[in-house]
Amino acid sequence: MAEAVIFLGPPGAGKGTQAKRLASEMGFKQLSTGDILRSHVARGTELGRLAKPIMDAGKLVPDELILGLIGEELSSMPDPRVIFDGFPRTLAQAEALDKLLRERKIRLLGVLLVTAPEDELVRRLLGRALEEGRSDDNEETIRARMAEYRQKTQPLVDYYQKTGSLKQINGLGKVDEVYQAIQEALGVKA
Ligand code: ADP
Repeated sequence: MAEAVIFLGPPGAGKGTQAKRLASEMGFKQLSTGDILRSHVARGTELGRLAKPIMDAGKLVPDELILGLIGEELSSMPDPRVIFDGFPRTLAQAEALDKLLRERKIRLLGVLLVTAPEDELVRRLLGRALEEGRSDDNEETIRARMAEYRQKTQPLVDYYQKTGSLKQINGLGKVDEVYQAIQEALGVKA
């Protein structure tokens, strides 16, 4: 059956790590809009050239571009089983995704809100800067990404709370502990 899970949360909460593991254990495809954009930047595509300065400024890439990417990915999957990581990030994206899920008859298993205190998030992102060298993991851009999250993405918490899909996950523990909490929230624990 066509099914989806959404990961929501601020930068540095650990969404990517958890989404990757959940996807591989549940046989889902992880769709990370950040990873897809970074691959466009690395390949120097037109989209990549457009997105790079926006990403480096810690701002959000325009909804139309993101929705184009997601539409493309989903239309290539006959029976989508996907974990959305870093999408949706704005109300317009959330509404467009709802429509897509309805049209494609994809069941939403849950929206996982992974959170941690902001000083911990910043500490993790600065640590990642040293390990991975992502050009948007510097202090100034991190601050801008946090502000974008608060302004544009945080309203989605209310949106999904109202539909009853939201599941709160404490992202502060060890990677394994957070993963356990996610499995319990989704009711998929073996
Ligand atoms: P993080 O959550 O760690 O900040 P991501 O890898 O999810 O990082 O995203 C990196 C950047 O890619 C964002 O700061 C933004 O510029 C862009 N981006 C990713 N997903 C979206 C989205 N759904 N809408 C708009 N911009 C996005």
